Amino acid sequence: MTIFQKIIDREIPADIVYEDDHTLAFRDISPKAPTHVLVIPKKAVAGVSSLEETDEHLAGKLLLSAAEVARRLDLHDYRLVVNNGAGAGQTVFHLHIHILGGRPLGWPPG
Ligand code: AMP
Repeated sequence: MTIFQKIIDREIPADIVYEDDHTLAFRDISPKAPTHVLVIPKKAVAGVSSLEETDEHLAGKLLLSAAEVARRLDLHDYRLVVNNGAGAGQTVFHLHIHILGGRPLGWPPG
């Protein structure tokens, strides 16, 4: 079981900013920007590469939730990041979108 599953199950606390039937969003415990929120599906999916055709609706909901969270937090310019695999920086193997905002975000990321 991942730490995010424990947050979904309310076994450990989190600063939850949004929830609906399919997704949950909470503030990252180690923020990399003034606003850093993680949006996760309630279904246990390890990462983007584990998504299946039957997850089409869930994948859409995840992106829509990220946009809704950004709106609610009054973010206009922000970055969505999904790390897939340890070599890409993924440390928690429950799919999540990082929402980063509140500071200038250069491109490409340095
Ligand atoms: P990633 O490296 O893409 O897998 O992102 C995992 C993120 O989860 C990191 O930014 C961590 O700071 C964050 N994180 C780990 N444990 C917690 C927790 N208990 N509550 C909130 N965020 C967490």
